[in-house]
Amino acid sequence: MVHVVSDTQPTIDAALDGTTVRRWIRESADVFSSQRDYLTQLDAAIGDADHGVNMHRGFTAVMARITGVEEATPGQLLRIAGRTFVSTVGGAAGPLYGTAFLQAGEALGDHETFGPRLLGDALRASLEGVQRVGAASVGDKTMVDALTPALSAYELELRMGGSLETAASGAREAAAEGMRGTIPLQARKGRASYLGPRSVGHQDPGATSTALMFAALEQAVLADRSQRFAGGARRPVSGS
Ligand code: ADP
Ligand code: MG
Repeated sequence: MVHVVSDTQPTIDAALDGTTVRRWIRESADVFSSQRDYLTQLDAAIGDADHGVNMHRGFTAVMARITGVEEATPGQLLRIAGRTFVSTVGGAAGPLYGTAFLQAGEALGDHETFGPRLLGDALRASLEGVQRVGAASVGDKTMVDALTPALSAYELELRMGGSLETAASGAREAAAEGMRGTIPLQARKGRASYLGPRSVGHQDPGATSTALMFAALEQAVLADRSQRFAGGARRPVSGS
């Protein structure tokens, strides 16, 4: 059998910028529009049936905010997303995701472009922010159960010499696995913890929304790559 190496592009080619972040936000807004009722059903089983509505409201508001902002760095876009989540989304998800986006935005600073490693730093800053605010650890049946393995898979793939695309794909897979792994767990944080053992056997809505965001991230990265192959790099890399 002949093996064809299809991805020989060096990682340095993968310059991410404001277009990537806007794509990720748009993808997420679409996903949370189509998955709103599913997430709400998950939350109905172990919470108060609002997670889908919360996430959909948040991304709709973020889309409206960033559409009016033409010139913005990737970090600024994420900071806008964070502030919008904090101010428009209630419940646990608003401040938790708001903090995640704000911290990611802080990590990106004011670079016009950024590379795979800086994206990894931003994801790590998000996880640390979520844990600082919510104090959840892996195994507590929360979004942390999807975010933690996704970050580990992303970092591992880069360390092994993988590309941005394979790292984003590994993160998406690990997040989905972490999401499914919440089913047998008993919730120890958030509203679901009030149910005690009755929370066992249900997939955590927040872990599910995190997995959906990693799928959206992979889509944004792949769309970027198609554009690069079609039209050449948009800008030189200035981030790491
Ligand atoms: P609420 O529970 O206030 O109604 P949402 O329904 O929007 O808020 O979000 C619920 C999700 O938030 C849960 O499924 C869980 O993943 C996440 N969550 C709740 N508490 C925490 C916490 N302390 N740390 C991390 N994630 C949490
Ligand atoms: Mg809820």
